[in-house]
Amino acid sequence: MGAPGSGKGTQAQHLVSRYGIPHVSTGDILRKEQQQGTALGLRAKQIMESGGYVDDATMIGMIRNRLLQPDAANGFILDGFPRTVAQAEALAKLLIEIESPLDAVLLFEVNNEQLVKRLSGRRVCEFCKKVFNVHTAPPSVPPECVDGRTEHQVVQRADDSEDTVRARLRKYEEMTRRPVSGFYSYTGLMRTVDAEGDIDAVTQRMFDTLAAGSGKKTAPAKQKKRAAVRRAKARKAVKKVRRVIRKLAKKVAVKRSAAQPARKAKRKSVRKPARRPAARARRKSKR
Ligand code: AMP
Repeated sequence: MGAPGSGKGTQAQHLVSRYGIPHVSTGDILRKEQQQGTALGLRAKQIMESGGYVDDATMIGMIRNRLLQPDAANGFILDGFPRTVAQAEALAKLLIEIESPLDAVLLFEVNNEQLVKRLSGRRVCEFCKKVFNVHTAPPSVPPECVDGRTEHQVVQRADDSEDTVRARLRKYEEMTRRPVSGFYSYTGLMRTVDAEGDIDAVTQRMFDTLAAGSGKKTAPAKQKKRAAVRRAKARKAVKKVRRVIRKLAKKVAVKRSAAQPARKAKRKSVRKPARRPAARARRKSKR
């Protein structure tokens, strides 16, 4: 998790290199849909350019399809998802279903004014897709663009204009940072990374935070073993919850069937009050 421009995509690449698992970025998937001109891409284009969020159902469906791909079977790095509490809840259910619990939730924190500067200064080369920043990393000289090109052709992403950046940051604070980090703070998986300053220093802090969270630096083999143990625990927990639900349902059914004759009798007595033979006899004798 992190605001737009916090560098989560860049840091995700370092995690990919270390753990050898795929980087699943919902922003990248949506941009690809746009390039391919699909119906979703066209619908998402306007939303993305205005700094809004694509609807939860679409995003949840997209992540579901992606995480069911074989390359995600041994793990994945999510980037830009979940962005809402509804997405976080859906993800929790999906991860139980595919028996792949989360290991950590990283929250990249950067001051808002820094973010505005970073994003509104960001430029992307249309040809090699390299990312530059007019303030901190202007297009490289001599250029290393694609074969046959002697210079980069940089453009600003439509959603990197200053107004849109501010709208995106507001949306992130309201819909993501406060509620979604609140959601994960209960899980004990949440780690905050100070993402200001030099990119390499942030990478180091990220790995330190991950190592500190798990108590010590862990080898991938050990992590796989731990993930298997966690999956087994998650399976056990799900079974337990299901057993409790079945028991409760049974109890409710038994209570209902026991209560039914009594209720019927009560209804009867309300509808047809019992006649009092003694009173009737007294009235007759008076007549
Ligand atoms: P990103 O590249 O992660 O900054 O995403 C770019 C844009 O894609 C966002 O500003 C949203 O409009 C859209 N987007 C990406 N991920 C999501 C998501 N999980 N939920 C809703 N919209 C998303």
